[in-house]
Amino acid sequence: MEEIVCPECGSTKINLNGHIHNWKQNQVCKVCGKEFVLNTQNKIVPEETKDTIRKMLLELIWHSKFSILHQQL
Ligand SMILES: [Zn+2]
Repeated sequence: MEEIVCPECGSTKINLNGHIHNWKQNQVCKVCGKEFVLNTQNKIVPEETKDTIRKMLLELIWHSKFSILHQQL
């Protein structure tokens, strides 16, 4: 089982609130008191990854447009 780490302070002293709804469980950090929901079914995609995907897609679109243009010339 994966260890739960507080996103606020990085503490592993997490209190399970026991509220389960759609696989989401409410967690409370014993150190800073931060409440957060850990969804193990759906991993969060970091913004950096999203940016990379966006850039790759834009490049792909740009290249395909360019090749069409090149073919017409
Ligand atoms: Zn904390």
